[in-house]
Amino acid sequence: MPREIQTQVSPEVAHNESLINEHVAKLLNTSVKEIQKVVVLKRSIDARQKAIKFNIKATVFFKGEDFVEQKIELPEYKNVSNSQEVIIVGAGPAGLFAALQLVELGLKPILIERGKDVRGRRRDLKAINVDHIVNEDSNYCFGEGGAGTYSDGKLYTRSKKRGDIDRILRLLVGFGASDDILVEAHPHIGTNKLPQIIQDIREKIIECGGQVLFETRVTDFIIKNNQMQGIVTQNGDTISANKVILATGHSARDIFELLDKKKIFIEAKPFALGVRAEHPQELIDKIQYSCDFRGEFLPPSPYSIVKQVNGRGMYSFCMCPGGVIAPCATSPGEVVTNGWSPSKRDQATANSGIVVELKLEDFKPFAKFGALAGMEFQKAIEQKAWHLAGQTQKVPAQRMVDFTQNKVSSSIPKTSYVPGTTSVEMGQVFPGFLSQIMREGFKEFGKTMRGYLTNEAILHAPESRTSSPVRIPRDNETLEHFQIKGLYPCGEGAGYAGGIISAAIDGEKCALKIAEALKI
Ligand code: FAD
Repeated sequence: MPREIQTQVSPEVAHNESLINEHVAKLLNTSVKEIQKVVVLKRSIDARQKAIKFNIKATVFFKGEDFVEQKIELPEYKNVSNSQEVIIVGAGPAGLFAALQLVELGLKPILIERGKDVRGRRRDLKAINVDHIVNEDSNYCFGEGGAGTYSDGKLYTRSKKRGDIDRILRLLVGFGASDDILVEAHPHIGTNKLPQIIQDIREKIIECGGQVLFETRVTDFIIKNNQMQGIVTQNGDTISANKVILATGHSARDIFELLDKKKIFIEAKPFALGVRAEHPQELIDKIQYSCDFRGEFLPPSPYSIVKQVNGRGMYSFCMCPGGVIAPCATSPGEVVTNGWSPSKRDQATANSGIVVELKLEDFKPFAKFGALAGMEFQKAIEQKAWHLAGQTQKVPAQRMVDFTQNKVSSSIPKTSYVPGTTSVEMGQVFPGFLSQIMREGFKEFGKTMRGYLTNEAILHAPESRTSSPVRIPRDNETLEHFQIKGLYPCGEGAGYAGGIISAAIDGEKCALKIAEALKI
């Protein structure tokens, strides 16, 4: 009988098949020759002890036992060329996985995306990094694959629905991701690998008869008697369908404005906002692994920290070990940060959003914007940052200790943020209450993570696109907007997801509800 085991191994052993076999043989008091295969099911780091270990859960197959290498197969996708059409607006994870699910169910997705395909997008990312030119339809947030394409590709989520998460992970493996993502406790894919996976998903949708339209921005909805009838594009073209999945992400301000203008109910939603902190990766490794050097077998360390300050949570968000800070503005005249990492996470710096939770009452100065008050609050900070840093894509920056002491930094070293930095007292970027919380919070962080509060750490501002500032409400049962039949608010922009995996899960959920409504 194959044996299930849980064991701890040294970092050197954790990813080395023959050393794992030797370890398991010793553990089970047998010889390596008796072991046919050790299938690792889960792997996680235990950094609590001085000597760091990996926890491993595995199934051991002995010689003579039945063992078949598991190959992840894609589902049977149908030919949907002549099937009923469903419009999906936005080709982020929510839109792409909704499309795949529709094809699996036998419905034809028409996926409409304002940005370019993954390859075309690269040129626009270069333009924002090097020439400070922001293309409003093609940038780090908009384009094929959505906001997650040029990211760290972290695939963990707070969602507890293991079955749903595993299904998305298996689909990603089916489309070319390493099967390590099924095993690692904190899986990630990396910016260099995600684009090909996304392209393969698109090609599958088209091969099955679905349609994918790039550089096509939805500018209006066609609605009759509170029933969705279709959409209008920027060229005035119309596309008809009475089911529309709206998966336009947290940065589609024009969509929020359109809904508001058409009196389709939306509401302001609290989100979180702050800065992106960058430390030398070596320093984070030292703190997290309690060692002078990480060595060759431990990965660049992530960190996760949260503190309560003045009754609000201040926490690390979208931490990228061995990563780069990216300019994520979606319009000229604003500055926005976020982070990404290559699959090896081999850059010299670690960056993380450090954000403070906002409350609806914080948006009071923008109350005249109604449901868009939070969005305007966010926009005002991004525009202020742009002005203060010199009206390019340069970002306001300050050393961490200087910030806690209200001192403008006399110099800012080169950071991973390619467009460059301008030394600015961060207090000028944010409302007073936010700066105060962050000053206190960084001091608290320094007490928990000794060495974290240092002038070697550079703050970049703002980190403002953490989640949607607007919720597009929907019926819990049908997932349709409760006023407009056939409109399915979906993913992060509508307020139902936060991150790649949960957005993908929500996309599938909407597709399933549509099939249910159509009795398919
Ligand atoms: P989005 O991905 O935002 O997709 C929405 C799509 O809709 C976009 O492609 C946009 O162009 C399109 N669109 C918008 N308006 C229109 C319109 N009018 N007409 C047509 N199309 C439109 N999450 C993680 O889980 N792990 C990470 O490591 C991670 N790193 C990130 C790094 C960066 C730099 C960024 C920006 C985000 C990162 N995120 C990460 C967040 C993650 O990308 C999002 O949570 C996720 O992409 C949300 O998916 P979505 O499909 O709901 O929306």
